[in-house]
Parts: sequence; structure tokens; C-alpha cells
Amino acid sequence: MKEPIRVTVTGPTGQIGYAILFRICSGAMFGADQPVKLTLLSRDNEKSKAALKGVMMELSDCAFPLLAEMRAETDLREAFRDCEAAILIGSRPRGPGMERADLLEGNAAIFCEQGRALNEVAARNVKVVVVGNPCNTNAWIAMKNAPSLDPSCFSALMRLDENRALSQLAEKTGMPVCSIQKMAVWGNHSPTMVPDVTATLVADKKAVDLVDGEWVKSEFRPTVAKRGGAIIKARGASSAASAASATIDHMYDWTNGTDGRWVIMAVPSDGSYGVPEGMVFGFPCTVTAEGKVEIVKDLELTDDVKVGIAKNIEELKKEQEAVAAFIPN
Ligand code: NAD
Repeated sequence: MKEPIRVTVTGPTGQIGYAILFRICSGAMFGADQPVKLTLLSRDNEKSKAALKGVMMELSDCAFPLLAEMRAETDLREAFRDCEAAILIGSRPRGPGMERADLLEGNAAIFCEQGRALNEVAARNVKVVVVGNPCNTNAWIAMKNAPSLDPSCFSALMRLDENRALSQLAEKTGMPVCSIQKMAVWGNHSPTMVPDVTATLVADKKAVDLVDGEWVKSEFRPTVAKRGGAIIKARGASSAASAASATIDHMYDWTNGTDGRWVIMAVPSDGSYGVPEGMVFGFPCTVTAEGKVEIVKDLELTDDVKVGIAKNIEELKKEQEAVAAFIPN
């Protein structure tokens, strides 16, 4: 048996938390032979602590062979001490009448504190995925507040957007999802994102030869980019199990490598495609067997994708400006 990996999850009693914990413990996130030591960060109030107690009772009742240890923490430094994987889901939800700026600021405080704590106590090779929205900017804030960790430790979840794009294209072409390779989604996890099939192959045929450009522009892109809202409308609650599943995919591939297969991750830019260095941006990536994420380079972009990328850069710059007070000099 391998040495257990230390995993910290924030927001464990929320919708996504409840959908993800059981799969982490069953081996879906790190592999069927990888034990986990789980630390669950609770908010420091009686209601949250009681809810977490109930979730932990259920986890315990599953008798997962891979669950080597489980504890609840309310203190950030205790929660992140030596952690090798941090799944940051907990965040301040958008309340009635709340502007985007208020949401950004409310979350900035959370991710600033979490970045500082990770900086001080996490394992130096920690893999951080931010799920809580606005996830790209929250990940950027945490990264900026963790100067002694390598920026490559930080990422945000855009795998759900990739999965949504794969599923839409599979349905349109009548082909299985597993026959599709090289899907791209660029930018911010917001309706501004750019799902892009320019390089995509479906059973080794070019997607652009199978679907027409008008469908890509007027149906595929908006359906993927606005799927979150459509799910809230249909279900009366935001996407949770699919977000949990995408987070599992994200961490599984980051840990195990993708053997050349593209996956979409929001990672600190290295300046590729004109995206400012450090901006946490959705790119097509590959992951080496050692867990090194590499942005797929030198793709030829169509003019509309270039315009879309520029819009995402502008949007993320505005988000960064709105949280400037939380970024150390
Ligand atoms: P939820 O409201 O069910 O749960 C939120 C969790 O965050 C709860 O455990 C709550 O206790 C905790 N929390 C609330 N306020 C907090 C605060 N001030 N400090 C610390 N923790 C706090 O929400 P959910 O459905 O589980 O979604 C969680 C986040 O994930 C949301 O921000 C949502 O927008 C985001 N999300 C992201 C994606 C993506 O693809 N990146 C997809 C779906 C949802």
C-alpha cells in the first residue's frame, strides 16, 4: 500500500462538498491504490460544525478501506498543515441584491487568508484547485498571497466547462465522448469563456468538418458558457454533482498525468497566447507523469477565438483590479 496523501477540503458540507467527499474516499480522485488522510475545514459556528459532524458520521459508515484518517478543523493553519492536495470549494455565495464586486470582495478575503496559510504550512509541492467562484481570480489571490510556493501549485476548475463542451459535441455528432480529443476552452469560468473546436478531433476526423460554423457560434459556445445558469433554472439549485465530478477529473489527471491527452485547466499563464503572466486562465494543457502541467503551445487561433481571449483577459484584469487591496506588494 502507498503512503497516504494528505488532502484538505474546504466547504465540505455544501452541495459540491457532499458530492465529492465520498468519491475522494473511494479512490476516484487519486487512484484505487492511494490511501488518503482527509482534513475537512469547517466554518467556526455551531450549525456548520454540526453539519460536518453528520457528514463525517456518514463517511465513517462507508468503511472506506482507503480512508486512513479523517479530522475536522476550524483553524486554517491546522487544516492546511502538510497538505499535498487542497480542494478549495468553500466560498461566499452570491446573496440577494449582491453585486459582482461585493462577491469578489467577500471571496477575496477568504482566499487571501487561505493563500497565506497554505504559504506557511502546506507541503511545498501542494496541488491546489479552487472551485469556489469567481474561481480564476480566487486562485490568483491565493497564489499571490503564497509567495514561497511555486505558482504552479495553483489552479482553478475549468474542467466542468470542458466536460460540458465534450458532451455537447458528442450529442451533436452522435459519437461517444471518448472518441473526442483536443477540445479547448479558453479564459475565465464565466459566460465570457471561449469553447473552441478548431483543433478538435472526433474519431480522428476534424470536428470543423463535421459541424457547421454557425452551430459552433450560435449554439455550441453559448450553451456551454451559460450551462451553469440553465442548470439553476431547471434544477432550482446550482450544478453540484457535475462540478464535483469535474474536480475529481482535474485532480486525477494532475496527479496521474494525461499521456499527451489535452485537458482544460485554469493555471497561471506563462505569457502564452498573449495572456499576461500569472493570470489564472483556462488553457488546453497536458500533464506529465510527474504531475507537471504544460500549456499546449503554438496553436493557430481563429480570429474570433483571438477576440474571445482578449475579452477574457479584459474581464480578468477588471476582477484583479477589484481585489487589488488583497494583493501584497
Ligand atoms: P454551497 O452553498 O452548497 O456550499 C458552500 C460551502 O461554502 C458551504 O460549506 C459553506 O459553509 C461554505 N461557506 C460559505 N460561506 C463561507 C465563508 N464566508 N467562508 C468559508 N466558507 C464558506 O455551494 P456549492 O454548490 O457547494 O458551491 C461551492 C462553490 O463552487 C460556489 O462558489 C460555486 O459558485 C462554485 N462552483 C464552481 C464551479 C466551477 O466549475 N468552477 C461549478 C459549480 C460551482
